[in-house]
Parts: sequence; C-alpha cells; structure tokens
Amino acid sequence: MKGIVFDIKRFAIHDGPGIRTTVFLKGCPLRCWWCHNPESQHVKSETDVKKILLDGISFEKTETVGRLMSVEEVMEILVKESVFYDESGGGVTFSGGEPMLQPEFLTGLLKSSKEKGFHTAIDTSGFARTEHFDEILGLTDLFLFDLKHTNDAEHKNFTGVSNRLILKNLRFLTENNAHVIIRIPLIPGINSEEDEIGNMIELLNNFDGKISEVHLLPYHDFAKNKYRRFEKENKLINLQAMEKSQIQNTKSKFETEGFLVKIGG
Ligand code: SF4
Repeated sequence: MKGIVFDIKRFAIHDGPGIRTTVFLKGCPLRCWWCHNPESQHVKSETDVKKILLDGISFEKTETVGRLMSVEEVMEILVKESVFYDESGGGVTFSGGEPMLQPEFLTGLLKSSKEKGFHTAIDTSGFARTEHFDEILGLTDLFLFDLKHTNDAEHKNFTGVSNRLILKNLRFLTENNAHVIIRIPLIPGINSEEDEIGNMIELLNNFDGKISEVHLLPYHDFAKNKYRRFEKENKLINLQAMEKSQIQNTKSKFETEGFLVKIGG
C-alpha cells in the first residue's frame, strides 16, 4: 500500500503527548482561508521554486512537494525514532492535509504503528466518511479534531465545505468513547469573536462531558511566503495576529466552563 506524503516532522511536541513523529499526508478536501500548509491541499505532487541569495547572487532551487511512499518506507523512519516515544510517552501522529483523504494508506499506517506498540494520533478536519472513522476507531488512541465554525453557512464560506458531516463524525467518535481533543484555529474576524466562542462552548457542552480538552491555535501569518511560492491566493494577506490579551481572554472563557485549555496544541 502506497500513499502521498508531503513531510515527516521529527521531534514534534505539539501534535499529541510526548515527543512524536508527525507524518503529513498530502491532499485535503477543504480550502480554509487561513491554511498554513497550502502546499498540502492538492493530492498530487507540486513544484515550488525557492529563491536563494548567496554572496549577492540570486539562485533558484526547484523543490517537489509530495512523495509516493509505501507503508513500509514510512514505518522504517518511525521505528528509527521510536526510542524517543518510549522515553517521553510520545508516539506517531498522522496529519495533513486531511489524512483521511487516503483512508487505505492511513489504515495501513495505523495498523503497522499499533503492531509496533506506538501511541497513535490523527489530526483531522473531521470531513471524511463516518465509515472510515469507524474503521480506524480501534487503531487510534487520540483524535485531534478541528472545530472551525459552528454556523454551517460561515463554515462553508471560509472552508469550502459544510460542517454537518464534521459534527456528525464528532458525535460518532464521542459516542464510541474515542479520546478526542478539540483544536480551534482562532482567526480574527472569522471565529474569534465573543459570540462565536460562546456558540462553540455551548456546542462542546452538548457532548455529555466527553470532550474535556481544547487546544486554541491562534492565527499567524508564517505561511505567507508559501502562498507566494506556490502561487496560491492568500485571502487573509492583510490579517494581523491576535493580541495576547484576546487569546488569554478566550482561554479563560473555556476554562470557566471546565475545559482544560492549551494554547498552541
Ligand atoms: S483542513 Fe487543514 S490542511 Fe485542509 S485546508 Fe483546512 S487548514 Fe489546510
């Protein structure tokens, strides 16, 4: 079984507990305005031209993003890193893009990881067939599950897809006692205002106490050069980062409702 991988990050500390290796699978059905990995969106490989200035002379370096890899090839890398998982309580995280867009490949990776005894996490938008969540339920120790907007029309506008299937899948996971941590990208002018934060809290309080942890991911513009290099439209080109006080204020609102909250995942 093979799939397209666009990056493998070693020593990841924000994608689940302990020290982890995060495997980024290429392809995503969403088009979030704030996406910080725009090169992850298309399933196919893409070419990027980097300009390098060396001793006053400009060079161009062509890089291909996305590589066809087998489950065995990925596992070879993960096994080499596994000493760090054992010592730190870490493991492997499959991210994207949307990792569930390559369901057979993802299932193969999760199965092999479990055979090796690794703690497994997936970082998902939640936009995938419920049957696929069912297939990987017993192979996944942790779901890092995005909540982007509670309003369906706003969700469609800012991500390109409805939130109905996503919320159905979130319900499915919690009803089946999966360990779910909610990740909320906080985007000024889109979902970080008081009303929408209140709506999110209300929604999460409606899961019978099965969701207890929330990670807030405040907007940053670190990806702006990627949008230029990959010639993608950046709809938030002039958006400023959130004030620290506003982030803290949002964190307090969730904490007051009894959620364990981390900033940055
Ligand atoms: S779900 Fe994630 S990878 Fe997909 S477009 Fe949105 S931010 Fe980017």
